[in-house]
Amino acid sequence: MSSNAQLLALAQALLPNYRQPPTVMVRGEGCRIWDADGREFLDFSGGIAVLSVGHSHPKLARAIAEQAATLMHTSNLFFTEKELRLAAALVERTGFSRVYFANSGTEANEALIKLGRRWHHEHGDGARTELVSTLHSFHGRTMGAVTLTGQPKYHVGMGPMLPGVQHIAYGDLEAMERAVTERTAAVFLEPIQAEGGIIVATDAYLRGVRDICDRKGALLFFDEVQTGYGRTGKFLAREWSGVMPDACSLAKGIGGGFPLAAVVCTEKLADGLPVGSHGSTFGGNSLACAAGLAILSIFDEEKLVENAHVVGGHLGGQLEAMAADAELPAAVEARGRGLLRGLKVAPSHDAAAVLARLRDLGVLASTAGGDVIRLAPPLNVTAADCDRAVAALREAFRTTPPKA
Ligand code: PLP
Repeated sequence: MSSNAQLLALAQALLPNYRQPPTVMVRGEGCRIWDADGREFLDFSGGIAVLSVGHSHPKLARAIAEQAATLMHTSNLFFTEKELRLAAALVERTGFSRVYFANSGTEANEALIKLGRRWHHEHGDGARTELVSTLHSFHGRTMGAVTLTGQPKYHVGMGPMLPGVQHIAYGDLEAMERAVTERTAAVFLEPIQAEGGIIVATDAYLRGVRDICDRKGALLFFDEVQTGYGRTGKFLAREWSGVMPDACSLAKGIGGGFPLAAVVCTEKLADGLPVGSHGSTFGGNSLACAAGLAILSIFDEEKLVENAHVVGGHLGGQLEAMAADAELPAAVEARGRGLLRGLKVAPSHDAAAVLARLRDLGVLASTAGGDVIRLAPPLNVTAADCDRAVAALREAFRTTPPKA
């Protein structure tokens, strides 16, 4: 078995587009992960909200292995059993009536951009091509999705961006009223801006945006790539507000680590992507959909959406207590819902330094919005593991020195 140091010598072969600590992960089980030196970590990064059923869930691993030995791929030249079964299951669980499969969140959002524009085209209003998105949003890295992403740092040196996209303040209904016009194809919103810093939209805002879109004839799309799949304690975060968008993008937790994504939409949009208008070689392949079906059956067996609600509430309460604790001045605000949680770091401290200290203490997490420590553990995490993570987080906030 190679050590961290031996393996890191190979890192030269990678483009340096990620910031990664000098540790090499080799094995995971449940909420735990081990590096090549045998060091154990509690994984509250959750693969950035991907590990819905934890690392190496035996039922998921078995489903993937069995499907790989049965039928892996046919392309979309043919229906396959697992694709049809997963589509039907998603329709049943989400209340939407049609599904398109992709491989990643950014691809699901690209499909939504095309579905939004093409639907208007099919309905005689091809002038509706503009898209409205929000500042601090994150929708992915491909050119359409990165244009939607309301964070200029992701656009640097990548231009020109897609024309016809505007970004307005999240939570501002008056700005939305002004931005949506007779040229708007669709509005894109995250019910919680996750990468932007775990900013939870109010129900009134989401209802207000739905009303604006209805009055002005624009479509409303929710990006539930990070908030969907039980993460917030409901199957979709949209359920908290009761607002039904015209479509949602789903990814991350849907495959539990296997690349899979989906667009789910209402019957109204069923004719939005006619034959040949869009597609993906791998999208919805049998192997990915077998993983997706296994995830749903684990969700039911282990009651993971309920667990995200209950254990997430417990975690949220502890983060609130940290933010209120006068002995932890660097922890200033707790945010989030279910098992998508954030703790804002005071300007006096560097969130990356708190994160590194937390890792030294044996707990993995990630940052969001630059100054928020994000916790997005597997949905089958226990309250006891949350208590362990919070104890380490307290220690990290207490012992990380202020910025120089
Ligand atoms: N949309 C949201 C809300 C996300 O959080 C992300 C990824 O973090 C994406 C889209 C992009 O997903 P992917 O990295 O799978 O392309």
